[in-house]
Amino acid sequence: MQPNGTAGQPTDRPIRSVGVIFAMEAEGASVADTIGLGPPEPLHENLPMRIRRGRLDDLEVTMAFNGIDSDHQVDRIGTEAATLTTWMLLQQQRIDLLVNAGTCGGFQAREGHVGKVYMAGYGLYFHDHRVNIDGFREYAEGPIMLSHGSVLAGELGLDSGPVSTGCSLDVTPAEIRFFQERGVIAKDMEAAAIARVARDMGIPCIAVKSVTDIVDSDKPTHEEFLRNLARAVDRLDEVVISLLRLLAEGRTLDRI
Ligand code: SAH
Repeated sequence: MQPNGTAGQPTDRPIRSVGVIFAMEAEGASVADTIGLGPPEPLHENLPMRIRRGRLDDLEVTMAFNGIDSDHQVDRIGTEAATLTTWMLLQQQRIDLLVNAGTCGGFQAREGHVGKVYMAGYGLYFHDHRVNIDGFREYAEGPIMLSHGSVLAGELGLDSGPVSTGCSLDVTPAEIRFFQERGVIAKDMEAAAIARVARDMGIPCIAVKSVTDIVDSDKPTHEEFLRNLARAVDRLDEVVISLLRLLAEGRTLDRI
């Protein structure tokens, strides 16, 4: 049996192998090229998920991408593909630390701006999982607590706070209230799903998210997303490379 959660892991365990999950090709292809990772390989013969493997000094790096949907020719964003990618990656590769890297919506009420990169902190929510039955409510919306990330956030100069995941790019008024009540700093479509599988598998997990659009502004999210994607990804790349360099210097779990 795998341990449920990472609490039982020795804190002085060294990080020798890191997995980085991206939802979209455009979010991670350039950083994988910069590090010199190998070409895309399938995670499973029937599924679109791809991995690229290589090393940064002594650190083993595996980047995983959800892949392209064969019916619609777009990236498989969202929680279903993220869950499956995480499960397959953790089944097939020895990973000491899992990182979800990607883009997000930010909040001007909490000083978010395009290109700002956050480290998820405290916990991860699902803002569109509404089940009004005691117990199931808390299971559905989280938070999934995070035990790691605060040391790296400090070293990388990243603000940190709750991230919330859902399956839509736009928002409802109820979701806006959800974000306000919980002090959510970033809205995405994968982080909580990835963290839940990592937790079940006993693998420590962190998330870094770069802002492409501002949720609490009057500009249409999809237009902002497309206009700002390249800028947000440049900043994300810088942070992912700095993060991997810190890990490659040699890290134990208690210094993550
Ligand atoms: N139209 C885009 C689709 C991107 S959807 C395209 O060109 O393919 C949004 C992706 O970026 C998801 O993987 C999600 O995690 C992240 N994201 C960025 N801004 C978001 C927001 N405001 N809400 C939810 N997810 C967001």
